[in-house]
Amino acid sequence: MEQYKKNDVLTVTIEDMGHDGEGIGKINGFPLFIKDAVIGDTVLAKIMKSKKNYAYARLEKVTMPSPFRVEPKCPFYRQCGGCQLQTLSYEKQLEFKQNKIRNHLIRLGGFKERFIDRVMEPVIGMDNPYRYRNKAQYPVGTDKNGKPVAGFYAGHSHTIIANTNCYLGDEKNQQILETVLAFMEKYKIAPYNETTGEGLVRHILIRTGFTSGQIMVYFVLNSRRKKNGAYFPHQDELLEALKRTEGMAAIGVSLNREKTNVIMGKEAENLWGSPTIWDRIHIRREETRGGQREFIPTGQALDFNISPLSFYQVNPVQTEKLYSLALEYAGLDGSQTVWDLYCGIGTISLFLATRAKQVYGVEVVPQAIEDARENARRNGIDNAQFFVGRAEDVLPRKYEEEGIFADVIVVDPPRKGCDEACLRTMLLMKPERIVYVSCDSATLARDLRVLCDGGYEVKRVRGCDQFCMGVHVETVVLMSRKEK
Ligand code: SAH
Repeated sequence: MEQYKKNDVLTVTIEDMGHDGEGIGKINGFPLFIKDAVIGDTVLAKIMKSKKNYAYARLEKVTMPSPFRVEPKCPFYRQCGGCQLQTLSYEKQLEFKQNKIRNHLIRLGGFKERFIDRVMEPVIGMDNPYRYRNKAQYPVGTDKNGKPVAGFYAGHSHTIIANTNCYLGDEKNQQILETVLAFMEKYKIAPYNETTGEGLVRHILIRTGFTSGQIMVYFVLNSRRKKNGAYFPHQDELLEALKRTEGMAAIGVSLNREKTNVIMGKEAENLWGSPTIWDRIHIRREETRGGQREFIPTGQALDFNISPLSFYQVNPVQTEKLYSLALEYAGLDGSQTVWDLYCGIGTISLFLATRAKQVYGVEVVPQAIEDARENARRNGIDNAQFFVGRAEDVLPRKYEEEGIFADVIVVDPPRKGCDEACLRTMLLMKPERIVYVSCDSATLARDLRVLCDGGYEVKRVRGCDQFCMGVHVETVVLMSRKEK
């Protein structure tokens, strides 16, 4: 194989895409990884870093655009690290995600291709894949003229790309951000500087309940305490200005003085309005109508209070499909005992509780468990009980001390997947079914292998596109126990 030198410029056709959305083209079998190149493009690419068996190259020019290439909506698309697939047609994005899940299950999970193709159904897409996000956390910094800016980090860096109008988020976010930035400029309130650890405003969190129309704005501050009864000078003036935004329901702060990538601090304090906002999620049922499979509302819905430190799914339209699918996979008839691990504010738990005898939820964030308990009350559900703690601590402890039992276990862990101790206890509990909801198909594949080696078999696999334009994909898997 030939090797290339830095700054060599080559013509190459993109034949494949990596899991981070980068284009992959080969010259005489030597692969080039080219960010921003789309499958089907022929491009001029400049070698940036050459290794023995592959090289990273920069897209210089698209000489022949791919039939799957589309104009990105966002003018900052190429610099911004927020999304990676905006130049790929949405249909092709779904295919990319389908392949990503499939490849992970085969390569990392050790499942046979033929088997995966039999159990896997097509990924569920969105009709309108923009403006879907109900939450954004904007880093705040300073531009080269010393003005405060907010936006998104560039890919793999902490450089802020100033942009108050992200096409994935709510339109109202722009007005809110502009108000905050103008206020900071007027009163010389300093953005946080990651290098020096100085400055006050680190992030602005904006969350919207799409059903309720309620908006929550939280400032993440590099501060220890209030001075003269406020976190920053002229605080009331900013609150007054923000209250004028239609739907504004909650404004607060979270203090974070750590040098860390974790955005929010450990606590949050409400400064105005209510400590939570609410949202409604409809329970749907998948049906075939006019040859099309659709998620039709059942008429039943649940309402959820969400506090600033609690996790809540970012794509409410797809969440209804995701949860409805998880509920269908759970196969409940009112007689089952169900454990919902990594339960957040109890969203999946309460969906399950509408069809189960008893549900137990486990979650590590105490504020989320407070929300979960309140959400059970709010929906008149009395067969759901919640425990604060890590799933890998709570489940083994309850199993050893109380011999807890489950007909069905649902897990929805963060990207790193389930802890070994958690998986081991799940196997000891011998539930009839396990429903695995995953936001990272690589760790999903790893965990499914453990569960399959422990006596389970994969019955159904389905992706759900919660992160249109981005490379992540949510997956729901149904497993059942082999020996009865
Ligand atoms: N099922 C919920 C939350 C999923 S996100 C929903 O759909 O909204 C994953 C959740 O797991 C987060 O709420 C996070 O706080 C929680 N978590 C992370 N590590 C955990 C652990 N080790 N044990 C229990 N919960 C954990």
